[in-house]
Amino acid sequence: MAQINILDKNTIDQIAAGEVVERPSSVVKELVENAMDAGAKAITVEIQGGGIDLIRITDNGSGIERSEVKKAFLRHATSKLSNIGDLFSLKTLGFRGEALSSISAIAQVEMVTKTADSLTGIRYTVNGGQEGELEEVGAPNGTTIIVRNLFYNTPARKKFLKSPRTEGSYVADLIEHLAMDNPDVSFHFINNKDDRFHTSGNGDLKELIYRIYGRDVSMALVPIKCETDGIQLEGYLGEPTLNRSNRGFENFFVNGRYIKDRMISLAIEEGYKQYLMQHKFPFCVLHIVMDPDLIDVNVHPSKMEVKFQNQHTLFEFIRINVEQVLKSHEMIPEALRDE
Ligand code: ADP
Ligand code: MG
Repeated sequence: MAQINILDKNTIDQIAAGEVVERPSSVVKELVENAMDAGAKAITVEIQGGGIDLIRITDNGSGIERSEVKKAFLRHATSKLSNIGDLFSLKTLGFRGEALSSISAIAQVEMVTKTADSLTGIRYTVNGGQEGELEEVGAPNGTTIIVRNLFYNTPARKKFLKSPRTEGSYVADLIEHLAMDNPDVSFHFINNKDDRFHTSGNGDLKELIYRIYGRDVSMALVPIKCETDGIQLEGYLGEPTLNRSNRGFENFFVNGRYIKDRMISLAIEEGYKQYLMQHKFPFCVLHIVMDPDLIDVNVHPSKMEVKFQNQHTLFEFIRINVEQVLKSHEMIPEALRDE
């Protein structure tokens, strides 16, 4: 019979990392969620080489006490949950305590953190699971985490990454959605030293669209706001002239969570039907709020999919209201337009 081996901590962390960390954008997602859980109101995300070479996330959240810094990097170390009972009352985004241990198992991680109560900050590094020493450094309140050379010690995983350009576009996409989903947090995104956007955190969705997509898009928006029993729809529809040849401009959030959903996409597109040519897709940013009991978000959290109980009602509600709003703004149907 084959001998049974007990895996060492580093191997266990590397395997666990396979579930949490697929690519640079998954690292960014975990770290930004940590920043928001720490109460940050301003978050800067900087990437180089698509996030494969470097990811730097700076927040102005609570920071971590000196005595807790090393613990934060242990597997199943979390300040957000202490027993199974807590699982049902969670308000935070993370709770499994796996992100920092996983990321630091497959990259070179440096953290600088300071709480408002302490006089100095703490710097700590973990490279591929190898822990460094705690060092005192000057630092502002909050936390900065730098992740370098993702998958440098797991080349088999690194091979599955796409080009830095494509990986960078996934990160950009993620930050755009996080920013639109959290209008009261200021996001600053820098890609290869290029300042991509900086949102103000003042809560105004239209200004946010301006900051992320630029002036032309923000000048061609129509507001939508409607409600039926238990479902609210609010946000902006792009004028038909903003159309695109893919769905990349269709942004919708259900109860504050960015999702991809074919049924909602089709409902919106049906609403635009008279105004767009075939194979053209609209711009929109729509927040849908509904009774959480009517949604199953556990279908696939990482894939951003949800299941709706009253599919048909939701479809019709979206379709009809999109169509009416466009009509009431006297958009010209595609058939009558001369290009
Ligand atoms: P989880 O978020 O599931 O608790 P993580 O591995 O992501 O697990 O983080 C471990 C712990 O480290 C968190 O519970 C939190 O206490 C602390 N932490 C991580 N990132 C930050 C941050 N940016 N600011 C303050 N505390 C943080
Ligand atoms: Mg976390």
